[in-house]
Amino acid sequence: MTITWKDIMHFTVNGNPTPDKRIEKTTEEWKQILTPHQFKITRLSGTEMPHTGAYCSSHEAGIYNCVCCENELFDSTIKFESGTGWPSFTQPIKTNAIKYIKDESHGMIRVEIQCNNCDSHLGHVFPDGPEPSGLRYCVNSESLIKK
Ligand SMILES: [Zn+2]
Repeated sequence: MTITWKDIMHFTVNGNPTPDKRIEKTTEEWKQILTPHQFKITRLSGTEMPHTGAYCSSHEAGIYNCVCCENELFDSTIKFESGTGWPSFTQPIKTNAIKYIKDESHGMIRVEIQCNNCDSHLGHVFPDGPEPSGLRYCVNSESLIKK
């Protein structure tokens, strides 16, 4: 199944798909397993500088997992070169891997993407990606670990 922008709008209004499992930790527990930079991006909704992330221009085969809980998020085969300076994907590995939240910060209306298992901040999704999904999942390298 291909996720479309219409599906994403539906999720932001009517609720997200049920995750396979839930991973919950305290702030102190997250700090113990993440680097300070990873903690800032994933648990405090930070954004890494463009063109600086480890996976920005990586095209080696693999599965991109959540750096916090190892939930499988994206496959390298649907990674594409967006020119934005952040790893970009057209689809998640499965529908319930990611949750979608309307983000009205910084005077813009955007859709934030989080890991559906542990609520880690991943980045944002935009309706300007390549066909057939037309989606661009714009993700911080710090939020990902490739396996
Ligand atoms: Zn996670």
